[in-house]
Amino acid sequence: MDRGCNYCPQCEEEYRACVRQCVSCMVDLISGAERMKQVQRDKQYKSGRSMDCIEADKLVIVIEAKLHDVKAVRSLLASENIPSLIFAEGRSRG
Ligand SMILES: [Zn+2]
Repeated sequence: MDRGCNYCPQCEEEYRACVRQCVSCMVDLISGAERMKQVQRDKQYKSGRSMDCIEADKLVIVIEAKLHDVKAVRSLLASENIPSLIFAEGRSRG
């Protein structure tokens, strides 16, 4: 990362300092220093967050598979500090 460059806050593309707007996203670029702050904040958020799911978290279905595979994915997510829940499907009882 270069303080002398500008960065797109959306696609993270790097531009020369004279460029003000991302050509693909059409959004204003941020300076390298700002980008660095953002990355830092992101890291802090990631390492500081708890592994509990909170109400504000959006739930997404990552994988529907056998419990063994699901657990493998879950530990992968956990290594990135991403909390996850495992739901059992009730269909098999029927
Ligand atoms: Zn962009």
